[in-house]
Order: sequence, then C-alpha cells, then structure tokens
Amino acid sequence: MRTSYSALNTFKQCPQKFKFQIIDKIKAPRSPEALFGSSVHEAMKFMFSHDPLFPTLDEVLGHFSENWKVALNKTSGLAQELAQVYEESGRGMLKNFYKNNPPWNFSVVDTESHFEVLLPDEKGQNHVLAGIIDRVDKIGEGEYEIIDYKTSRRLPSQEAADADFQMSLYHMALMRRWPGTDPAKIKLSLYFLKHNEKISSARSKEALEATREAVLKTIREIEQKIAKNDFPPNVSKLCDYCPYKQICPAWKHLYKKEEQNFDETKLQEALKEYFEIKSVDSKNEDRLAELQTAIKSYMEANKLDRVFDERGYYISKKLQQRFKYDFDKVKEILTAAGLENEWQKIFEADDKKLKIILKTLSPTLRARIESQKILSKEFTVLSASSKPVKK
Ligand code: SF4
Repeated sequence: MRTSYSALNTFKQCPQKFKFQIIDKIKAPRSPEALFGSSVHEAMKFMFSHDPLFPTLDEVLGHFSENWKVALNKTSGLAQELAQVYEESGRGMLKNFYKNNPPWNFSVVDTESHFEVLLPDEKGQNHVLAGIIDRVDKIGEGEYEIIDYKTSRRLPSQEAADADFQMSLYHMALMRRWPGTDPAKIKLSLYFLKHNEKISSARSKEALEATREAVLKTIREIEQKIAKNDFPPNVSKLCDYCPYKQICPAWKHLYKKEEQNFDETKLQEALKEYFEIKSVDSKNEDRLAELQTAIKSYMEANKLDRVFDERGYYISKKLQQRFKYDFDKVKEILTAAGLENEWQKIFEADDKKLKIILKTLSPTLRARIESQKILSKEFTVLSASSKPVKK
C-alpha cells in the first residue's frame, strides 16, 4: 500500500472520511483554513530561497498576498472582510517570523522536502510511506533539525510534541535518508507561527522501531477495513470541519429535510410550473423563428448588415461557412507521407455510422447485429408528455 501521514491521520480520525477521501477519491473543496495554511507555507518556502540573495520582507509579504489572492478564487463565497482578516493574520505571522528568524542565519538543507520510505511488513509485502517535510536545517556536525510550520491557534504541551506521530514519521524518513546519523541528533520542531513559538523534541533509536510498527499496524487495520468494506463514521468535534458532512451516513439526514418535504402537493406544484415554462419556451421558440425570418427579409431587402432597436441593441448578419474535407485527397497525402495508420484511424468503428448503415440492411442481418449489443452506460432521464392523458 502507498500511503502518507495525512492519509493515516485521516483514517485514525474517521474511517468513513478516509473512505470518502482516499478510497472513493471524492473531491471536496478545500476549507479556507487549508488554503490559508498552503499560502503561508508557500511564502515560508519562498523566504528561504535565495537567488543569490534572500528575498526581503516586503517581497515575502507580496508573495504571500499574491498567493492568497489566487487561493481565494478556489474558495466559494468567503466574505471579503473574512478574507482580509486571514490576509492580515498571515502577513502578521510572516513579519514576526522574519524578524525573529532572518533566513540568512540558518543553514537550510531543504524546503518542502519530499520523501518516500519503503516499509516491508512481516508477510514480505512492501508498503510506501510518502510525505513532505516543510524544512530541514543542518544545525551542527551530523546534527539536523526538522521544522514543521503550524498555522493553527492551538499550542500543544511538550508531552504531546514528544509523542507527535507526524514528527516521528519525519524522523524515520530522515533516518532512512541518512542512515549514518545518530537518531538522537535529529531535532524535531513544531513552529507555531501564530504564537511565534517553537516546541522541539527528539526521538531515540527505540522510538524509530515503535514508529515503524505503528505505521504497519495502521496499514494492517486499513487493509482489514478494505477487505470488509467497513468504514464506520467516527462522530467528533472535527465533523464540523469535514467537507463530507452532507453525504456522511452520520449526518446526511439533517440535509434531507428539503427532499423529504417534497410531498404530493409540492410535486403537483413543480409539475405545473415545469409544463408552464416548457410551453412558454416552445411558444417563444416559434415566435423567435418568425421574428428572425421577418428581420432577415427586411435586412436583405434594404441591403443592411446590422439593425438597431431604439435602446441600441442590435442584430448583425453574418455569413457562416461550413467546409468538408476531400477525403480522396486526404488519403493521398497521408499515404504518401507514410501515415497509413492515421488514415485507418479515421475509419475506426463508429456507432452513429453503424446506425445509418443498419437501416439499409435486411431484417435478418439487422437482428443479428442488434443481438451483439452490449450495455455500456445506464442513466435515468425525465421525459415529459406533450399532451395530457385522459383520466
Ligand atoms: S462528518 Fe464526521 S463522521 Fe462523517 S465522515 Fe466527516 S469526520 Fe467522519
């Protein structure tokens, strides 16, 4: 299995969410918090890039504001005032960070560092754990610091940081990358940008083995759930931030009210309105066609290319041309260029062409071909009658 910290974390948080997101791959819009976090992370990466000089604070802030603008286009309906609050908060975090951590003071080895760790299990099956580490610094001879930026408000205890699973995974990933490193010499830091606080911890050699075991245990649990197709929802405070709440079995009844209230009376109203609109539409279509004919005749008789109404709206006459290819010539050109295969592709089987030919065949031949049809797609459509039935 190929997995990541975020997938394992989602599974632990809620198996149902894991199913929606990882197995069914149901796309969900990213929350404003997630987009804000990405924009801040992108600005942090930019801050530590130098070509040849590090960017100034103004450049970092400009980079962030630009990214935040782009991110805003991906959120639906975030109020302008709220978007501004986010932007100011991000700029504040970056200003504070830059002031306290001028980028030239650090020996940065990598930013947004991709890793893949191969984890064989006891059955000899290989699993891959992939992820991205925000920043890796060299802090001494054979000593490194892994830094993960957090934009959340919540500041964890030292105890929680010592047991943080994400940092344990990053520790394991770095140890795989540089096996000669002393595991205790890798500093693991969570940097809380809102509070400008860094909480650091370390992991022992024994902790490395425990991390590997914990990952494999979760992978085993996921495999069992997949085999049984059993992904129960785990209702918690986090449901309020879950993009799948409306389709989640634990919550969807709350969103069904509209549908359930659609009773016989509402159905009759909907049908009445549907047929009224449809009838107006077809009357409009007929009338539009009549008007077009009259206007066209007037323009032709008066040799006009454009006519205006009193408000300035206008109708233009445009000559439209349709062309068709001379296939004998196309064949000649493609064959001469040695592209017979391309020519053959033009004649590939086509349902529409077959339907035209079928009409010309004998009933027996047609029946034989029809019996070879296979169902390729099934869907429901509504079709409305054009006349009422007599009751
Ligand atoms: S709404 Fe809650 S229970 Fe449902 S999938 Fe999301 S996190 Fe799980």
